[in-house]
Formats: sequence, C-alpha cells, structure tokens
Amino acid sequence: MKEVKRSKKPLIFYYGIVLLALFLFNMLVTPQLLSAQVTEVDYGVFLQMAKNGQLSKVQVTDGEIVFADKNDPPNFYKTGRMEDLFLVDRLQQAGITEYGTPIIQQMNPLLQFLLSWVLPIALFIGVGQLMTRQLNKRMLQNGGLGGAMSFGKSNAKVYVQSTEGIRFSDVAGEDEAKELLGEIVDYLHNPDKYAAIGASIPKGALLVGPPGTGKTLLAKAVAGEAEVPFFSISGSEFVEMFVGAGAAKVRDLFKQANEKAPCIVFIDEIDTIGKKRDGAGAIGGNDEREQTLNQLLTEMDGFDGRKGVIILAATNRPDSLDPALLRPGRFDRRIPVELPDLKGREDILKVHAKKVKMDESVDLSAIAKVAAGASGAELANIINEAALRAVRSGRSLVTQSDLEESVEVVIAGYQKKNAILTDQEKRIVAYHEIGHALVAALQSHSAPVTKITIIPRTSGALGYTMQVEQDNHSLLSREELENKIATFTGGRVAEDLIFHSVTTGASNDIEQATKLARAMITRYGMEDDIGMVALETVNNQYLGGDTSLACSAETAAQVDRKVIELVKRQYQKAEGLLREHMRDLNALAQYLYEHETITGEEFMGLLKDLNTTV
Ligand code: ADP
Ligand code: MG
Ligand code: ZN
Repeated sequence: MKEVKRSKKPLIFYYGIVLLALFLFNMLVTPQLLSAQVTEVDYGVFLQMAKNGQLSKVQVTDGEIVFADKNDPPNFYKTGRMEDLFLVDRLQQAGITEYGTPIIQQMNPLLQFLLSWVLPIALFIGVGQLMTRQLNKRMLQNGGLGGAMSFGKSNAKVYVQSTEGIRFSDVAGEDEAKELLGEIVDYLHNPDKYAAIGASIPKGALLVGPPGTGKTLLAKAVAGEAEVPFFSISGSEFVEMFVGAGAAKVRDLFKQANEKAPCIVFIDEIDTIGKKRDGAGAIGGNDEREQTLNQLLTEMDGFDGRKGVIILAATNRPDSLDPALLRPGRFDRRIPVELPDLKGREDILKVHAKKVKMDESVDLSAIAKVAAGASGAELANIINEAALRAVRSGRSLVTQSDLEESVEVVIAGYQKKNAILTDQEKRIVAYHEIGHALVAALQSHSAPVTKITIIPRTSGALGYTMQVEQDNHSLLSREELENKIATFTGGRVAEDLIFHSVTTGASNDIEQATKLARAMITRYGMEDDIGMVALETVNNQYLGGDTSLACSAETAAQVDRKVIELVKRQYQKAEGLLREHMRDLNALAQYLYEHETITGEEFMGLLKDLNTTV
C-alpha cells in the first residue's frame, strides 16, 4: 500500500514544489525587501501633485526625481528631471525642505543579488538533494532500482531477524543433522578455538531433504542455539522481481549480515534461484535468476568466513542445483534431513503433543506406527487436526480416536461424508479391498494389514487397505517385492472373480504395481535375464522420484515385456490364492460391506475364526 502512494509522486511533483516556493518568494518577500514598486510618471503628474500638496517626501538626484504621496504606506513615483528653474520653489511651496537624502531604502546590491539569484538556486539544489537521498533510501529498502520505478511487487519482506526462540529440542529426531549443525553452533560460540588451530569452518551448509521434514525449523534452531541474528530469505521471493532487483537484494542481505556478524544467513528454497544454468537461450526471467545466482556466488566467495557469517540453505531438489553452488568454499557441506523413522515419528508427535491437552490413555507410538511415511509437518498437522476434532465434538481432551481419525484425514484426505455410492458400487469396493487384504494376509513376507475401509475419501479413493511394515526395515527382498505386486493386483482379481467384470477402481493399483515391477527390473537387478544392469536412473529422489531410461530401444522393449510378464505372474498368483479362499473372501467382504471399516486385528481374528470352524 505504502509503496503505491510513493511511486505515484513523479519528479514533476518535486519541481512543482520548488516553482511554487519561488513564486511565493517573489510575491511576498521580494517587494518589501527591495521596495521595487516605483511607478514612473510624467513630469506633469509631479507638478500637479506638488501643486495639490500631495507630496510627502522627495528625493532629487541628477537625472530623476523620486517622490512619495501622503498615503500610508506611501506610493512611490519617479519621473525624469526637467530643466525646471522653479523646482526648488515648487518644493518649498509643497512643504518639502529636505530633498537630498534617499527616500527609498536602497538595498545593498550584493544582498539583492544574493536574494534574487543565489537563494532560489540554493533552494532548488537543496530540494533536489533531499529527493535523491529519499530515492536512495527507498532503493535500499526495496533492494534495488526496482523500488523507485516499480509498479508491482518488490516491497517484499527482505528478511526476518528473529529466531522465535527455537532450539534443537524443538526438532525431534534428525539426530544426524543436529550433530552436523551442532558443530556450526559450537563455532559461532567460540570461533577463537577454531582459529587457534587454523581450522576453517565451512562457509555454507546445504540442508537437503523432502518437504516438511524440518529443514527451515533446523536452520532457525541453529540460530536459536547460537544466539545470533538470523537473516532469512526465500528463493521464491526473487521470482517476481525486476531485472537487477534480485542481485541488489542479495548484495544488501550480505552487507547487512557482515555488519551483524556473527550471524546466520538462511536461504530457503535455494533451488528457485540456484537451478542449473542452461547456458544459451536464456530468456526474460531466466536471465534475472542467473544474475541473482551470480551475485550470490560472488558474495559467497567475497566474504571472509572467519568473520562468523554462516550461510545455510535448504532445498528439496538438490540434483537440480547449479554445480557452481556446490563447489568447495560454497555449499560444500550437505546435511541430509530425511523423513522420520518410527522412533523419529513418535518423538515428533511427542513434541507437538505438548502443545495440546491429551487424554492420559493416548498411545502416541501406535499413531506413529500407522503414520508410516508421514513427514514432520504432516505429523504436526495430525496432532492439530486431532485437537480440532476434539473441539468440534465439544471435548476438552484429545483422545486416541481423534488421533486415529486425523491420521486418515491427513494422509488419505478428508472423509467424504456425503459421497454418493450406489449399493452395487459399495459391494464392489468391499470385495476389491478385501481382495488386497486377503492376498496380503495369505502370503508370508508381507506387511500385516492394519486397517480396511470403504468410506470414500476426498482424495478420490473409494476405499483403501492400509498395511504397515512391522519393523522399520529398509531392505526388501525379491520375494517381498513380488508379494507387494501380488497384493496390488488382489483388488482387481477379486472384482473379476466375483463380478466377472472389471472397474476403473484399480487404476492406482495398476500404476503402483507397474512402477514396482519396472524398478525391480531396471534398478534392483532382480530379473535374471538382465541381471545387475542399471537401465534407469532416478532424477529426483525426493520429489516423486521420476526416472529416465538409459538403454537402447531394443532393451527398452525387452524391459516392457518383462514388466508385463512379472505383473501377470503375480496376478495369477493372487488369483490362485483368492480362488482357494473364496469362502473367506465372501465372508470378509460381506462383513466389510456392513461395517465399512475394520481394523487389522478384527480382520486377522475373523480370518482365523473362518479357518478354524471348517
Ligand atoms: P521444510 O522446511 O523441511 O519443508 P519445515 O521446517 O518448514 O519443513 O517444517 C514444517 C513444520 O513441521 C515445522 O514448523 C514443525 O512444526 C514440523 N516439523 C517438521 N519436522 C519436524 C521435526 N523433526 N520435529 C518437530 N517438528 C517438525
Ligand atoms: Mg521449508
Ligand atoms: Zn485397490
């Protein structure tokens, strides 16, 4: 708002003020000081006035006569001096005896010159200078030329200088990252210790990890622990800038940081400015981004690391960063910030649970278990959702069921209360989900089912089967992966077996099964004919993990055939299992259809009952 008002005052505004000042000066000040209002009249007028006794003062000089009338204040006149023999007589008759002294206070010519020329010019220059200074100040504030002439954005917040008192204890899990960052904190506390031995601390550290894992939080915690100022700027703030503004902003940021050292400069989402430069063909905004990046590199090289300015940056797409940023002396230290494991999830839940009133019976470890794959931000959200749910139902404490429900809300989308599902659809979905669950349960080496539901979610899923790995293991065997594929196919198999027709409900399953099968062949070396050959590389391990094929068209065709074979084999395996347990399938699907949601324990209990009553 402010900036709009400001930029509407063009230069002409200031010149207008100056002109007005000059005008007023001439109107009000000058006449009195210079007494320049002297009317030139004919000699006859002088004679007439003298005759009528209208003269009050007269001054006779060689060439002219200056005289004043009897008004108050008097009007001044002048006339040329004629050959008038009776002049003295006339004056005497008019009662004027003194006519040698000047009747108008003549101004010192130097003063006159000063007033009429030097003063206005000085005024002009003064105002001009004031404007320049204001302009400069505004440019600094806005971080560049953009400020003065811009019309869009650019009054954006440059940096926040507050750490909000965040400490490492506010960041749960992430022990590795905390340990690495602890060194930086130690350095900021006693830089002399490091200087004494000649060790130089890295200038910059790059926090790398998927979204919501607490990168920003960690950076703030470093500043909080070290008790130093925290300058933060987000890469996305540069995006809408005008040419030159981004670079100016970077320059300003580092200037300020240098003055406030020791301190921390945090560049969030650095990938927005630090993307790989693609050499030729830079157009428009690209160019601007490059300038900003270049300025950043220059600043990083230019300043003295021993001054105690530490640069932290965060990104979730490290592989898209310009290699120049990762060279020694820049962001040469990488700090991985990974998704939390089971213990980490529980700790994060605990940290956030402190902020809300919880029922004593709440078991956070159970929640951590169901929320597999959730990020720190999602876990924080789960606690908050649960609290909101408690408020909605008029309770003062958060219960376990609030938490359980909010896991689903956060992870699988909001419950669609009024979704219209025909009875037949509901029945199909029940069979589909039981198909998944039963195939999973009938195979060894597959994660146990924890929950099955046919309550539709806004995410679009009509139902889902949740499986949780028992212990947090990261190595998966070929058998386990095959079983996973079989489980994915289970839904479609059940539909086909019972209704002899298939629906679109399996599209997500198909996608997942295909992805997994492909990865087994191209990345995990689990296909005997191809062996340990990497045919695909992962482009971005954190965001979706899109891959690119690196093999001949011939091999690609072979891979496609293998993928199809693999999925087909697993489909047949699932089909065999379900055919064998048709009775279980029917009974369980009916149960799910009636109850809509069943827990993993209920499911296993039912399955066991069915098989012991044979
Ligand atoms: P990122 O910058 O990695 O995308 P943030 O630092 O912005 O993630 O995290 C968002 C929010 O999630 C934090 O404000 C915090 O409430 C919560 N959070 C994330 N990770 C953690 C963690 N390890 N411990 C506690 N809270 C966390
Ligand atoms: Mg962030
Ligand atoms: Zn499915």
